[in-house]
Amino acid sequence: MSRLKIALAAGDGIGPEIMDATLELLKKAGVMEHAEFVPVEMGASVFAKGNSRGMSDEAVKTVEDCGILFKGPMETPKGGGGKSINVTARKLWNAYANFRTFKTLPGVETVYSRAGINIDMSIVRENIEDTYGGVEHRLSNDMIQCKRLISAPGSDQVHRFAFQTARKLGLKKVFCGHKANIMKMTDGLFLERFKAVGKDFPEIELADVIVDALCMNLVIKPTQYQMIVLPNLQGDIVSDLCAGLVGGLGFAPSANIGTHISIFEAVHGTAPDIAGRGIANPTSLVLSGIMMLRHIGLGREAALIENALLATLESGIHTGDFGDKKTPSVGTKDFTHAIMDRLGQGPKTVAATPVPEKSGALLARGAKPAGQQVIRTFKNVVTHVVGCDIYLDSSLSPMALAEEMQRVCADTPFKLSLISNRGTQVWPTGSVYTECVDYYRVRFELRDGVTPGTFGQSRCIALLDRVAEAFSICSYEVLRTFDGVKGYSMAQGQ
Ligand code: NAD
Repeated sequence: MSRLKIALAAGDGIGPEIMDATLELLKKAGVMEHAEFVPVEMGASVFAKGNSRGMSDEAVKTVEDCGILFKGPMETPKGGGGKSINVTARKLWNAYANFRTFKTLPGVETVYSRAGINIDMSIVRENIEDTYGGVEHRLSNDMIQCKRLISAPGSDQVHRFAFQTARKLGLKKVFCGHKANIMKMTDGLFLERFKAVGKDFPEIELADVIVDALCMNLVIKPTQYQMIVLPNLQGDIVSDLCAGLVGGLGFAPSANIGTHISIFEAVHGTAPDIAGRGIANPTSLVLSGIMMLRHIGLGREAALIENALLATLESGIHTGDFGDKKTPSVGTKDFTHAIMDRLGQGPKTVAATPVPEKSGALLARGAKPAGQQVIRTFKNVVTHVVGCDIYLDSSLSPMALAEEMQRVCADTPFKLSLISNRGTQVWPTGSVYTECVDYYRVRFELRDGVTPGTFGQSRCIALLDRVAEAFSICSYEVLRTFDGVKGYSMAQGQ
């Protein structure tokens, strides 16, 4: 029988220690009869050779050939523009859904476990878009921007994964966390697509919750949620909050699922303060390994390891970062050996995972895409240019700026309709209490009586050219309608 190939990157800091221990455990559970791990070079050693991506070409090819990457934590170079290798990997291979589970574990004491509150929930976080595009620019002396991008097909992919997973787990209700009350268009789209995709899963109830209220609810009554799907940054923050509810990052596994390539990793970092001492806790990586085994079809091996891990935790055996401080802690290897000794056993105080007689068919990979795919949700939408927002680096007052702009657009199809600063309207009306910085948005819209569609964006660019003769332009956005609906937001106070 041919074995499934899994690319393996041990990681930096404590990475190699916890990875070695985890692989030993996987081997003992019989995983190597079905899977073969292929080491790849990623992380600090690759950055040190001047490779700003942090992974060799050979490593990229191996991961793409295997379709599964099992990785330990990796260091992000501080400053110098070096991007996080963890984020690069997820984005490069379109691992669009970050799936993390949070469960109360025996032997891991928290305020909730002490109160007898049993936590069992999952977060699905969009993994590619949002501010994680890292598209940032300095716009003026005093202003820096990070673009927040949310797409309909990107949202669809993550929502579909969330509903499919909920269906598999037999969950009855999925929540969408968002901030659509403030970011009406970006988070509004994320929420709208949640509702649209949810229609394909009629047995699952849909609900939504504003992310700030969600955080409070999670702390007060975490058991009211079973699955929450969130945009990238909010999901990042909320999932660490949830890790805190079950004992910290050391107990939270993570899967990054894509259509072709998926990545399974521990969520904690490289723990440089304890690296090389053999005392790191491998639980997060073991739990991520269990997720990976289920993903590739090794449900039996996953269940065996899970039950043995629970039995070990239940027995009170612990590494130095958790557990009863009155009993001596063990190192990484001894902790893993304790799990190995319990393979075939299960926990007594919590439900054991049913162990299938044998694992099913191994994960079959789809065909390699011939080229980069363009994914789309909305098609055949009629769009018309109706104006443009020009962003300027200027220290003029709003009134003085308005006079200049009205002069510039005098004989064009556009009228000056708005000036805003940091999103708040400061012209034609505003408050003297609104403080302005050196970065303005100047909005031009078609004059009354001009039919949308009469002028294309070349007229906007001609206007931009005129403004550029006297002002420093930072950026510009064309204002368009989509099937007659404005594709741009109002200013605060407009
Ligand atoms: P960290 O998670 O490495 O460490 C925070 C604290 O938790 C430390 O005191 C550490 O000793 C402890 N800790 C973490 N994992 C542990 C484990 N398995 N067992 C016992 N104790 C553990 O966070 P940090 O110090 O902010 O980051 C260190 C490096 O890791 C940075 O370079 C960062 O960029 C990187 N990082 C990588 C990932 C990843 O690869 N997914 C995630 C987070 C941070």
